[in-house]
Amino acid sequence: MQEKNKSVLILGGGLAGLTAAKRLIDRGFSVTLLEKRSIYGGKVSSWKDEEGDWIESGTHCFFGAYDVLYDLMREIGTYQSVLWKDHKLTYTLSGGDSFTFNTWEMPSPLHLVPAIVNNGYFRFREMLSFAKSLVPLAVKKDKYPPTQDHQTFTAWAKQHKFGDRLLEKMFRPMALALKFIPPEEISAKIILDVTEVFFRIPDASCMGFLKGSPQDHLINPLYEYSGSRGVEFLLGKAAEELLYENGEIQGVRLSNGDILRADYYLCALPVHNLNKVMPGSLKSDNPFFSDLEKLQGVPVISVQIWYDRKITGEDNVLFSPDGVIPVYADLANTTPEYRTLRGKPFDNKSRFEFCVAPAKELMQLSKEEIIARVDQSIRNCYPETSKGAEILKSTLVKIPQSVYAPLPNMEQYRPTQKTPVSNLFLAGGFTQQLYYDSMGGAVMSANLASGEILRVAGG
Ligand SMILES: Cc1cc2nc3c(=O)[nH]c(=O)nc-3n(C[C@H](O)[C@H](O)[C@H](O)COP(=O)(O)OP(=O)(O)OC[C@H]3O[C@@H](n4cnc5c(N)ncnc54)[C@H](O)[C@@H]3O)c2cc1C
Repeated sequence: MQEKNKSVLILGGGLAGLTAAKRLIDRGFSVTLLEKRSIYGGKVSSWKDEEGDWIESGTHCFFGAYDVLYDLMREIGTYQSVLWKDHKLTYTLSGGDSFTFNTWEMPSPLHLVPAIVNNGYFRFREMLSFAKSLVPLAVKKDKYPPTQDHQTFTAWAKQHKFGDRLLEKMFRPMALALKFIPPEEISAKIILDVTEVFFRIPDASCMGFLKGSPQDHLINPLYEYSGSRGVEFLLGKAAEELLYENGEIQGVRLSNGDILRADYYLCALPVHNLNKVMPGSLKSDNPFFSDLEKLQGVPVISVQIWYDRKITGEDNVLFSPDGVIPVYADLANTTPEYRTLRGKPFDNKSRFEFCVAPAKELMQLSKEEIIARVDQSIRNCYPETSKGAEILKSTLVKIPQSVYAPLPNMEQYRPTQKTPVSNLFLAGGFTQQLYYDSMGGAVMSANLASGEILRVAGG
């Protein structure tokens, strides 16, 4: 245990900040956490609207690969809230067709055999040329993706000649679902990394959903765990600037002018907010900090639509290469506690949540225009069951800067959790760890950052 007198000030109450607060209070630090919004959870946050319906920042799928997240959830007693779905990935197409990548309960890579030989859409020849393109990945394993960070996934795919249909129908929605940017922008490293993990670890691509809102089943339990053990939470307080003098952080000035001081400072902010609080002197002192300006957030839009009938019975995540809905789910199937509308039961009807991307062009459109495009995309995918369907309610959340954009050559600018300033640490999805900007990444970054603080504090 660490002595009580070592204090840590955490900036940001997203999943990374909240996880770090738990880790550090567990090790005996005195912890204060500052969050600028009126709720915790950041990009995983959810809230009830004035009609009592849950609104989410975005659909959150729990990948089987996120062991660190499940360890955390077991520690706070919420792991049983993850409902694991059938191990398959289904893609819905305009015109009503669909195809599914199934898996077998077999050791890697045999678990992928049905996906390659029997997906009901791609010809065996196409899958074979794709399988051939993965030979370097199979041989060099996790050493291979980092060598491909210099190019986009489209450039990599063209080099490996596995055909436009696979790129357009399978990888376009995958890139958009993962990081909200298309294959012609995303670094090849990201898709190859994910493919390598899916290839190597049979359960990594299995998806889970929470049985209700992230607030009820992850964020509030995490907050309550740490609050009951003494973390001081300051909600609705924004950090304005880190005060840097004599080679150390001396305090944090808040937007109301107050100054907070601690032994250690942990910034768990989105990278664009981190850049704002970073003083110019620190940036000019060291490229570690000025390079952070190169990482930019990606815009994304989340839409929910309640229909007056059941459009799909699919109880799983869904992908679509056609229209503006690369990844979506019918929450009335996946998330039992969401079978409601305006406080009343919502049985045998569809309540979809869509991740709308790429969103750069769509951000300027009105809510009505965006909902109309999403509605059209879903009607195209389900021409039969959506015939005559009416929208009972729709909601929309625009996030101008969400996860950092993993464009080619950006990996080198992702910072470590330990910084060149001895009492300043970083956490968050954009910092260096295995899972990029995701829930698993946020938790892993917080574990690493708290480990560094513990080490520096002599624990
Ligand atoms: C639409 C959408 C869908 C997603 N889907 C998935 C998914 O299916 N699976 C998955 O694993 N991940 C998903 N993610 C990514 C995941 O949500 C993020 O990677 C993760 O939540 C990042 O957590 P974080 O703590 O690093 O950052 P954040 O959640 O951004 O937390 C940062 C916190 O800092 C606060 N803050 C900012 N500035 C200040 C300031 N000046 N002072 C004080 N506080 C400040 C913010 O308000 C915020 O609460 C999705 C993200 C989005 C947007």
